[in-house]
Amino acid sequence: MSRNRKQAALTKKSRNLKDFTYDELLDLVSGLGEKPYRAAQLYGWFFKKGARAIDEMTDISKVFRNTLKQGSYYIGLPALTGTKHSGDGTVKLLFELEDRERIESVLIPEEKRLTLCVSTQAGCALGCSFCMTGMYGPGRNLILSEMTGEVHVATGLVKEGLLKDIKRITNVVLMGMGEPLANYEEVLKFINVLTDPKGLGFSSGKVTVSTAGLTPGIKRLGRDASVNLAVSLNATTDQVRSQIMPINKKYPLGGLLAALMAYPLRRGKRITIEYVLMKDLNDTPEDARRLARLLRGIPTKINLIALNPPPGSPFKRPETECIGAFRKILMEAHYDVIVRASRGSDIMAACGQLRGREQKALTGKGA
Ligand code: SF4
Repeated sequence: MSRNRKQAALTKKSRNLKDFTYDELLDLVSGLGEKPYRAAQLYGWFFKKGARAIDEMTDISKVFRNTLKQGSYYIGLPALTGTKHSGDGTVKLLFELEDRERIESVLIPEEKRLTLCVSTQAGCALGCSFCMTGMYGPGRNLILSEMTGEVHVATGLVKEGLLKDIKRITNVVLMGMGEPLANYEEVLKFINVLTDPKGLGFSSGKVTVSTAGLTPGIKRLGRDASVNLAVSLNATTDQVRSQIMPINKKYPLGGLLAALMAYPLRRGKRITIEYVLMKDLNDTPEDARRLARLLRGIPTKINLIALNPPPGSPFKRPETECIGAFRKILMEAHYDVIVRASRGSDIMAACGQLRGREQKALTGKGA
């Protein structure tokens, strides 16, 4: 390799090595005059052995480690600033990023699995009126290292006994703060690292992307990845959906449902429809019947979630009888319906709520 090429590689500005895809790492190591196997070695240290600093990678020569450090490369992770345990077992992890933006992840233990709910943006521009992240307004997109960092830190905590007998995260859902499909390129890189056996090694059947309904993004995702899809639907008419989810004005129900109908599912898989029930807004028997009609022909399972209203929310939790009646109508129309408990309500675990509390403590702003 020429002296100039090596110099060019060394003069790049400071970069977290965990922001490189595998192919980019291959280019980097070859640019630094190393053999391609070094990329696999680095990747293994990042994602299998959980290295937190260049000097932890002890089977990599000191010379190459120094070359990386002189080139201002480093290994960085989001800083864990707090954890909150719910009475129902849910644990919230609060992180601070290098630019002091704050995000959160949530660990949700269930009978046979432990799901990590990951944030993809620090804030959200979509402004759903029932969601505290939306109320905070847009933040920036997270980058690859920040999303893998959420998994890395959560995995370490679980291994160290955060949840007593549970030692392994089995599922990952991109359902924390932000709209994953509005951060498409970085989210796709993240999915690739998540599902790469050389990377974090999750089966793609254990990874779910949850969207508020960005129709073009759904079509792209169907072409680019083979992960599970969840859609936050929450209304059965454009009028109500646009009222609570302004993105519906841009991508109304008709086009969204057509995209779901065409989504290429893996064998035996179905699209999860998330439907947050809000009193007197979307919880009537007529809504249930309309929902059954709208979803006809789409392989789905439906999660009904009674709203866990954030402080100051104009929306209310529906009566228990309404939830039961809604579910019965859908089941009679032969849908698989689960009424999901709102997990972690005592630790403000609806998306963005913990961040709101912490921001208020720090800045005097927020809910
Ligand atoms: S519900 Fe999701 S898409 Fe809507 S504002 Fe909240 S984070 Fe954004």
